[in-house]
Amino acid sequence: LMQLFRPLDMLGMVYRTINQGLIDMAAMFKLLDTDVEVRDAPGAPALLVGRPSLTFDNVVFGYEKDRTILHGLSFEVAAGSQVAIVGPSGAGKSTIARLVFRFYDPWSGRILIDGQDIKEVTQESLRAALGIVPQDSVLFNESIGYNIAYGRDGAGPADIEAAARGAALLPLIERLPQGFDTEVGERGLKLSGGEKQRVAIARTLVKNPPILLLDEATSALDTRTEQDILATLHNVAEGRTSLSIAHRLSTIADADNILVLDQGRLAEQGTHHDLLRRDGLYAEMWARQQSERERLSEAAE
Ligand code: ATP
Repeated sequence: LMQLFRPLDMLGMVYRTINQGLIDMAAMFKLLDTDVEVRDAPGAPALLVGRPSLTFDNVVFGYEKDRTILHGLSFEVAAGSQVAIVGPSGAGKSTIARLVFRFYDPWSGRILIDGQDIKEVTQESLRAALGIVPQDSVLFNESIGYNIAYGRDGAGPADIEAAARGAALLPLIERLPQGFDTEVGERGLKLSGGEKQRVAIARTLVKNPPILLLDEATSALDTRTEQDILATLHNVAEGRTSLSIAHRLSTIADADNILVLDQGRLAEQGTHHDLLRRDGLYAEMWARQQSERERLSEAAE
């Protein structure tokens, strides 16, 4: 009988591994209805990562044959550095994240992690090295502890607690009579938006990925909660190689490098101060967001 169950067990494990990555990807990119077209190269080795850099080398890509979205994009996220991507809607920011996850392969050019072309390693090892914190995470109708442990097979109570601490979730857990055993309800409805986000951060911390992809849109949260969550995310990113898709410029002023994307091309890059001094697209976006903010705060008075 055991013989019969082993393959099922294996299948469960494979499903779980794939699902773990996909479920958050689905939330981030609404991709679940997309067929994954890429395949592992025959005999592909696993990706080896220490403290990895992430490099785009002249990447050309589009979803449809006659419409190019990324036009020969090159940039590097140095090992352990925090890089943000900004740019107008439709510039190709999420496309970059999808390519890093290898949901698609570039038409030409290469994407390298620690010098290894991601096309030439197994997808399983690639996705194991990547953590995502999407703006709207999918939680299971299970306990908070279960939802955190889902980040990694075999996570024990001490791992779960450490991750919850890193995600600044412990004050909430301490207030709950059932602590980590508290059920989160259908789609996490018994938690606030900010609490759900923290559970998702803890799940990523349990996985402990060397590379982080962050989607910084936190529009569902009030300003105070958003600031708290962003502070937590910045702590989590510390020491990892991280790429954030930023929708509000105010959240990325201290990034090591900011990539300004415009219609699939790198228009500018540099630190916040470099880019303001340059007085180009970034400076224009910054000025627009500042005046928008002033307008909103005047309206609130
Ligand atoms: P936003 O800030 O609005 O989220 P973005 O910079 O993340 O925008 P992308 O989502 O990367 O932009 O999209 C870049 C371009 O690719 C857009 O013009 C979009 O219409 C197109 N696109 C995105 N996904 C697909 C797809 N699955 N099939 C075809 N075209 C797509």
